[in-house]
Amino acid sequence: MYFLNKNINKHEGIIRCLSLTMIVIASGLFISIPFFKSAKVEKLNRHESTLCMPNLDQLCRLDVKERPWEYIVIHHSATAKGNAARFDYYHKKMKGWEYGLAYHFVVGNGSFSGDGEIEVGNRWKQQIHGAHTANMNCNRVAIGICLVGDFENGGAPTENQFESVVSLVQYLSRKYNIPSSNILEHKDIHQKATACPGKNFPFAELKTRLLQIASKSSNHKEL
Ligand SMILES: [Zn+2]
Repeated sequence: MYFLNKNINKHEGIIRCLSLTMIVIASGLFISIPFFKSAKVEKLNRHESTLCMPNLDQLCRLDVKERPWEYIVIHHSATAKGNAARFDYYHKKMKGWEYGLAYHFVVGNGSFSGDGEIEVGNRWKQQIHGAHTANMNCNRVAIGICLVGDFENGGAPTENQFESVVSLVQYLSRKYNIPSSNILEHKDIHQKATACPGKNFPFAELKTRLLQIASKSSNHKEL
């Protein structure tokens, strides 16, 4: 009898153990579902933010006849924070430059403008030469795009900044028929030594992304 009871107890023990395992597995599933869900939502949000990219045709519309742009030059602000209005004030009041903001476009990092927000300068709207390099011949034909941040002494552009720059450069280079070889970093302009836009700016990645977009759109045309 004792032996039988011992066996029953043994069976009960196994059943309890199995039940407990099932409960643990089931609760694990319930716990893990919300994590999967939240990861999915985060991805969707990121995708949506790409879709919310401003209409570049509308953003880049001009008040005057367009200039024959031949180059695009990428800069960083070499400051942790900033926006178009602050740089405009600095260039106008401190540097004494008549047309203010040296660049045509400023891409924010979330400090004083949105993260990845593209601000359009007056030099673009009025199609005025830039003041973004020390080479005046370059400034006359080069569109200046400045990303807020210090990519030499600080980190790299934010993901949103980088995506905005890819879209803007792709849009402008297609509109003005600017070849990839004429998309430059400020430090490529021979006149005055500079590290701009900094060693942490992923310039090679920008070029790769532009090539990928170009080949995708040409494949699409062939179809
Ligand atoms: Zn620069």
